[in-house]
Amino acid sequence: MLILTCPYCGIEADETELASGGEAHLTRHGPGTSEDDFSNYLFTRQNPLGVHFERWRHAHGCGKWFHAARDTGTLEVFATYPAQTAEPPKTVCDAIRKRRPGWTWQGTA
Ligand SMILES: [Zn+2]
Repeated sequence: MLILTCPYCGIEADETELASGGEAHLTRHGPGTSEDDFSNYLFTRQNPLGVHFERWRHAHGCGKWFHAARDTGTLEVFATYPAQTAEPPKTVCDAIRKRRPGWTWQGTA
């Protein structure tokens, strides 16, 4: 069972208390962008076996959205953090690299 700690209220919640919001850190594309960019924004998602960033809502708790960095293969959770970031905080990336040496966020160090 997946258990995530809500970064707002600090409660460890299992997945029955949470609502999944899909992949985190998507770049939004709206009117005026190319058909390909808009189509990719709507339909293209990563589905890695390994480190993944996801949006979750503490639906049966405080109701707030947050992000979780976890391994989809092992269910190991590296961190949860507030959703108001365009990319994972450095502390989260450092925590992942500590357990997955060589891992990089979108190919950057
Ligand atoms: Zn909460």
